[in-house]
Amino acid sequence: AAEEGFDLEDVEGAIEEAGHGPLPVLAVVGRPNVGKSTLVNRIIGRREAVVEDKPGVTRDRVTYEAEWAGRRFKVVDTGGWEQDVLGIDASVAAQAEYAIDAADAVVFVVDAKVGATDTDEAVVRLLRKAGKPVVLCANKVDGPSGEADASYLWSLGLGEPHPVSALHGRGTGDMLDKVLEALPEAPAQRFGTALGGPRRIALIGRPNVGKSSLLNKVAGEERVVVNELAGTTRDPVDEIIELGGKTWKFVDTAGIRKRVHLQQGADYYASLRTAAAVEKAEVAVVLIDGSESISVQDQRIVTMAVEAGRALVLAYNKWDTLDEERRYYLEREIETELGQVAWAPRVNVSALTGRHMEKLVPAIETALAGWETRVPTGRLNAFLGELVAAHPHPVRGGKQPRILFGTQAGTKPPRFVLFASGFIEAGYRRFIERRLREEFGFEGTPIHISVRVRE
Ligand code: GDP
Ligand code: GDP
Repeated sequence: AAEEGFDLEDVEGAIEEAGHGPLPVLAVVGRPNVGKSTLVNRIIGRREAVVEDKPGVTRDRVTYEAEWAGRRFKVVDTGGWEQDVLGIDASVAAQAEYAIDAADAVVFVVDAKVGATDTDEAVVRLLRKAGKPVVLCANKVDGPSGEADASYLWSLGLGEPHPVSALHGRGTGDMLDKVLEALPEAPAQRFGTALGGPRRIALIGRPNVGKSSLLNKVAGEERVVVNELAGTTRDPVDEIIELGGKTWKFVDTAGIRKRVHLQQGADYYASLRTAAAVEKAEVAVVLIDGSESISVQDQRIVTMAVEAGRALVLAYNKWDTLDEERRYYLEREIETELGQVAWAPRVNVSALTGRHMEKLVPAIETALAGWETRVPTGRLNAFLGELVAAHPHPVRGGKQPRILFGTQAGTKPPRFVLFASGFIEAGYRRFIERRLREEFGFEGTPIHISVRVRE
């Protein structure tokens, strides 16, 4: 590193920064209008337009990456969902339970000016049951005179209320310090492999693609699909299923089977559920209805899994209904709409007839293997050396930026740091990614490449 003009400390820092595996997850929950979205904006340090959203306007972005005091984590914002037919308590509880289930720690936001309401108490019961670390945020304490309001919230029995003004930033730093104490370094305990337990699969896809049917098929039994009624939210349930001689954990299968008919916010609710399932899983199986055109919603769900850095399998369902013409058009759609994930293993299945069910497990295993691939530094640099010699970066402003060396900083998914002598253009980065995939496989996994430029 030194002879290439990089400071060893910088190199180590870059590797450490890039090398993280799945990040721990913080959920921000509470009643509508207590200031959850405002707080999330403050935590992520960006002005995303989430607070300006009009009621009933759905958004599908629910997880964000954040950093505080040098530690990175994910934030799940449950602020996007309005009350619906379930009634206020059940609505708040339903969205909170998914977020809490996927989280490593929770910030529970209460409006200190209003005090604890029955709905707040309902969330407290959920939090107790979940047993996750909770930081109590007494929001809307915009000045010292509000601090007395915050102290009333001791009555919730969740420990010290932290007086905060999400709007002005007052107290948020102290609260985030507490959040870091509550958050584990990595969400390792949620990943089966760390404990030698079953691998975790999130079976996701838009409504009616056949998730519930597929789950029933692979579980080898016809389950009753419960039409759950208002107020009967229940715990998201993970299900252990034997497949291909191995044990797998399908996460959030209750969410798949639950049929709550929502009026407002149904899309947001579905997004929250999908995001929560993806966070809990190592591999996402995205089910797509092959009989219909690939939609923006399908693409969003795929993107969610990719951005979360999970292994990915694409399963095209309802294959039994596809005639030759539809199959032709489907192939064209896959190329144009999902070309960016051409690296994902693909299976064409029918949950109805059981077609190609046996191909699901090998595809999942391939994706997980790609996700965990580690390329030895020597091999990587031999490859990079040849690549750079054969295909140099275009000359820019009389200079030729060069990749000097690189290393794989982490796995799950594979993360690379490349060290360069000058700015490396996006096109050349994509070229390197393509060549890395050709050389080392990485089937079924997103890969991250960050480039450090010598000062
Ligand atoms: P959510 O429904 O829980 O996500 O709440 P929002 O973040 O949308 O906030 C609801 C309203 O409360 C908005 O008008 C915010 O500007 C306001 N608000 C949020 N945090 C604070 C705060 O710390 N102080 C004051 N005074 N208002 C706040
Ligand atoms: P979910 O909303 O994704 O859980 O979808 P469901 O499993 O409830 O399926 C939606 C509809 O598609 C139901 O009527 C299923 O019977 C039907 N379906 C699911 N898989 C298949 C399949 O492979 N072939 C056919 N023909 N229909 C299917």
